[in-house]
Amino acid sequence: MKYDVIILGSGLGGLECAFILAKCGMNVCVVEKNAALGGCLQSFRRGKEEFDTGFHYVGALGKGQILERIFSHLGLMDLPWHQLDTEGFDQVYFKDKDILLENGYGRFARSLSAIFPESQKELEDYSAFLEKVGNGIADPILKGSHGFSSINSLFEKSAYGHLCQSISDPLLRNILSGTSLKLELRRGTLPLYTFAQINSSYIQSAWRLKGRGSLIADTLAEGIRKMGGTVLTNATVTSLEEKDGNVCQAQILHKGSQETLTANLFVSDLSPQLTLELLKDSPNLRPVFRRRINRLEQTCGFFTVNLKLQEGKIPYLNRNIYCYTPDLESVWDIAESQTGKTVKGVLVSQQVPENGGAATQMDILTPMDYSEVERWKDTLPNRRGEEYLAFKAKKAEECILLAQECFPGLKDSIETIYTSSPLTYMNYTGAVKGTAYGIRKDCNNLTQTLLTPKTPFANLYFTGQNLNLHGILGVSLTSLLTCSEILGKEPVVPFLE
Ligand SMILES: Cc1cc2nc3c(=O)[nH]c(=O)nc-3n(C[C@H](O)[C@H](O)[C@H](O)COP(=O)(O)OP(=O)(O)OC[C@H]3O[C@@H](n4cnc5c(N)ncnc54)[C@H](O)[C@@H]3O)c2cc1C
Repeated sequence: MKYDVIILGSGLGGLECAFILAKCGMNVCVVEKNAALGGCLQSFRRGKEEFDTGFHYVGALGKGQILERIFSHLGLMDLPWHQLDTEGFDQVYFKDKDILLENGYGRFARSLSAIFPESQKELEDYSAFLEKVGNGIADPILKGSHGFSSINSLFEKSAYGHLCQSISDPLLRNILSGTSLKLELRRGTLPLYTFAQINSSYIQSAWRLKGRGSLIADTLAEGIRKMGGTVLTNATVTSLEEKDGNVCQAQILHKGSQETLTANLFVSDLSPQLTLELLKDSPNLRPVFRRRINRLEQTCGFFTVNLKLQEGKIPYLNRNIYCYTPDLESVWDIAESQTGKTVKGVLVSQQVPENGGAATQMDILTPMDYSEVERWKDTLPNRRGEEYLAFKAKKAEECILLAQECFPGLKDSIETIYTSSPLTYMNYTGAVKGTAYGIRKDCNNLTQTLLTPKTPFANLYFTGQNLNLHGILGVSLTSLLTCSEILGKEPVVPFLE
C-alpha cells in the first residue's frame, strides 16, 4: 500500500500534522516506536496510579483564544479541561516574596503594581507588550513572510536584555521570570519571542486536564483513524530510503518484523539529528548540513519526582507553584547554580483530584543538565545500578524538601515516590540528551538555530518542538506551519479561525 504521507513519531507534532493532513483528504500513516502514543504526552502507570510525563498545564485555551481555536478543529475541546484559578494561576516564591499571578493582561499588571507600586508604568508596558505578542501569534501562517519578519525581530532580541531594559526592579524581574521553568532560562541565548509568547499565553488563561495528557494523543489518533488514516505503535523507523533525490520509503521494525512503507511525502516529528541518522548514506545531504544539524545544542532536561500522596493530607491547589531557595540570587542562574549541586528551584503541579477534595498526586520538576546523568548513558532503564538510584534518591529528597516550603507536612504525607531523569526521556521519546524543549534557539545565532519545516529533500518535512516553538501551543503552531508548507496557506487557515 502506498500512503500519501508517512509521519515519523506520534508526539503532539506528528499527530497534529497527521490529523490536519487527513482532514485535508490525504491518506496518512503515523509510525510510533513506543507502545504508547504521544511522546512527551505519554502517561505512565505505576500500580493503580497514572502519572503524566511532559504535560502539566497549557495556556490560551479560553473561548476564542488561540489554542482553543486550534484544538476545536482538532476535536480536543471535549476533553475534560479544568481552568486554574484566574486570581492566581501561578504562584512564585522568591526571596521573601510569595506572589500570585492573575489572568488577563490588565489584571496581571494591576495586581503586581499593588505589590510593586513604583513599577506600575513598567508593568503596564510589559503587559501591553505581551498582549501584542499574543495577538500576533498566528501571523507567520496568516501573513506569510510579513508575519515572520515581525516575529523574527523578536527572536533576534535577548529575553534577559529586554527584561533588564524594561523592568528596573531586579526583584520584580525575578518574579516575572520565575514561572519560566516551562522554558529554558538562559541569559545569553533565550530569544525574547520564546519568553514572551509562552508567558503571554498563560496570562490569557491557564488549564489542566482532569485526566492525563495521553488523552490528547489518544483522541487525535482516534480522529485520524476515523478519517481512514493508519496509526502504528511498536513500530520503529530504522531508515529512510531515497530515489531520484526524493525520500521514497521507510524501513520499519514493527512488532519484531521488518516492513517497508512507501509514500509520496514524509513528515518527521523526530529531532532533526535522529532524522538525519535515518538517512545515513544519503548523497543528497551535504556534509555541511549534517555538521550544522549535529552541532546544534539542546535545551536542558528535567528531573521529575512523581508522588502518590496519602489520602486527605495535602490540599489541592488549583494553580502551579514555583519555589526557589533563598540563596538563589537570580532565577536566570538556576542552571549554573544547581548543576552538580543542590536543587535551587522547583515547579510543583498537582493532578486535579477525580472526586474533588485533597490532592492525590503531585509532580515536582527541576531542570537538569544532561552532564549530571551522562555517566549512566550506556545503561538500560531499571538496570542503571545502585549509584544512579542513590543519585536520584538524593535529588528527590532535595526536591521534596523545597516543595515542602509551600506544602507543610509534605514529606510525611507521601505514599510512594517515582523519579525520572533526562535519561528516561532519552529512552522513551528519543529526545537527544534527554532535552525537554528540543534544540536551543539562540537569539545571537538565529539563522543556524531556528529551523524551518523544509529539508534538503523536497518531499521530507520537519515538525515538532525542535523547529521554532516548543510546548503544547508552540508545537501546535509549528504543526500548522509544517502543513502550510505542504498544502499551502488556504487549507490551514481555517484551523486558526
Ligand atoms: C518534563 C516536561 C514537562 C513539560 N510540561 C509542559 C507543560 O506543562 N505544558 C506544555 O505546553 N508543554 C510542556 N512540555 C513540552 C511539551 O511536552 C513538548 O513541547 C511537546 O509535547 C513535544 O512534542 P513533539 O511532537 O515535538 O515531540 P515528542 O513528544 O518528543 O515526540 C517524538 C515522538 O517520536 C517518537 N520516535 C522517536 N524515534 C522514533 C523512531 N525511530 N521511529 C518511530 N518513532 C520514533 C518518540 O517515541 C515520540 O513519541 C513539557 C516537556 C517536558 C519534557
